Order: sequence, then C-alpha cells, then structure tokens
Amino acid sequence: MHVERKTALVTGGSRGIGRAIALRLADHCSHIAINYRGNREAAEECLRLLRDRGVEAMALAADVGDPRAVEEMTGMIEKEWEGPDILVNNAGIRRDGLLIRLSDEDWHSVLETNLSGAFNCMRTVLRNMLRKRWGRVINVSSVAGIAGNPGQVNYCASKAGILGLTRSLAREVAGRNITVNAVAPGIISTDMLEDLSGDTLDSLMGTVPMGRAGEPREVAEVVAFLASEGASYITGQVICVDGGMLS
Ligand code: NAP
Repeated sequence: MHVERKTALVTGGSRGIGRAIALRLADHCSHIAINYRGNREAAEECLRLLRDRGVEAMALAADVGDPRAVEEMTGMIEKEWEGPDILVNNAGIRRDGLLIRLSDEDWHSVLETNLSGAFNCMRTVLRNMLRKRWGRVINVSSVAGIAGNPGQVNYCASKAGILGLTRSLAREVAGRNITVNAVAPGIISTDMLEDLSGDTLDSLMGTVPMGRAGEPREVAEVVAFLASEGASYITGQVICVDGGMLS
C-alpha cells in the first residue's frame, strides 16, 4: 500500500472504529486529522497515539451534521496541509426505538449525523480532490443498513442512505481518479454497544457465524486497503466486515 505523504480526515476518529482507522492510516499517511463532537479527552488521547507513530496530527471538534462547522473544519485542514486526500466518513450515533414511538428529534438527529454528516464532508472535501485528480472516500455504513433491524428505522435509513450516496458519487467522480466505497461493519466492540443488555448482546451474537464481535482494527484494515493505491480500480462497492452475518 502506498499512500505516503497523503492527508486523511477521519470523522468520529477519536474513539472506537474511527480511532482504529486513524491509527491504521498512520502507517501510510503523513498527516491525519481526526474529528470528534464533544469528548475532547478521547480526542487528545488519540492525538498522542498518532503523534507517537510519527505522523502530523490534529483534532478538530465539529458537528458533522452542521454544514458551516464542516466548512470551517475542512478549511483548516486545507490551509495547514492542502488536504485531505482521504476522507473517512465514520462519525455516527444510534437513537433506537420502535417507529411508532420514535420522536422527531431521534429521527432527525440520527439522519443529520449519520447521513447529512457524510454528505457535508464529501461536498467540501471533494473540491480539493477534483483539483488534485486523486481521492479516496470511504463511508462507514452498517449491515443494519442492508438488512434492516427492528427498533432502528432511523439508524438503518441513515446507513442505507450512505450506500446510495456511495454508489452515486462513485459514478460522478470515477473519471477523476477518485474512488468512493463503503464498509458495512456487523457487531464491533466499541462504546456504541455499551447500553445494550447482556441478553441483547447474546442474541445478537447468535446471528454471527463467527460467534464473536469484531474488533475495530478489523474494520480499519479494510478501510486502509480501500484508501491505498492497491484499491485503485475498486469504486462504488460495499464491503461487509461482519463475521459472516450477511453471508
Ligand atoms: P463510537 O465508539 O460511539 O464513536 C463515535 C465517534 O463519532 C466518536 O468519535 C464521536 O465523537 C463521533 N461523533 C458522534 N457524533 C458526531 C457528530 N455529530 N459530529 C462529529 N463526530 C461525532 O462509535 P463506533 O462504534 O466506533 O462507530 C463508528 C461508526 O461505525 C458509526 O458510523 C457507526 O454507526 C458504525 N458502526 C458501528 C458498529 C458497531 O457495532 N460498533 C456497527 C456497524 C456500524 P465524541 O466522542 O466527541 O462524541
């Protein structure tokens, strides 16, 4: 993989899957920006880990659902580093509930963060990629966006929307040497699963042929490949990283 001297932006890069992606990309990128929403402590810890690996790193607090905040964030990266060349749209939240009881707030907040957030970042970052005629966009969807899940209509709609965004943008920019792909993780051990009861986790695990949750680094490996030159002829694809759940 040869993505040396590239600049990457990982949204939601301070914790969980995003942190693993940022650290993995540090093996091949010279500059990494991580974005987060409010947990500065986690972002600073991730920054330290990145700098220990010898890359230039910055942490930028911004709500990806807010287009103006995203413009400011990407403006700072462009000013300092002329990037990003690689965008990983990973920031995401869950607000579960059966549709009949789902509040407007829970519907809109999930769609705004998970789907509009990816749109906002892609739109601002793309200008630079088009100019350079090189770019990698990797969107983090979910197997739930493919199969659906009761109690998660908002989350599944946002993650299914990500797939439509991915496939459409891939076709728009394919001629400019910019690839756009998605990964769809299954059940991955992060804070996002913290609120699930042991029973819920056990029954979820029963749907995984490999019989275990995935680790964030197992998603990060696939993202790193999609970001590399080795993946130069792959675009508009969705790769499940799910221990066989959707096989
Ligand atoms: P996580 O541990 O909860 O971390 C979420 C990250 O997103 C944090 O860095 C958080 O920042 C950031 N974030 C949340 N809302 C944001 C916003 N509006 N603007 C900017 N940053 C925001 O989540 P995770 O489990 O690593 O999940 C990462 C991605 O993978 C998500 O898109 C999720 O839907 C997807 N995914 C996860 C699983 C799983 O089983 N874990 C499965 C399938 C897909 P703060 O800490 O500052 O809030």
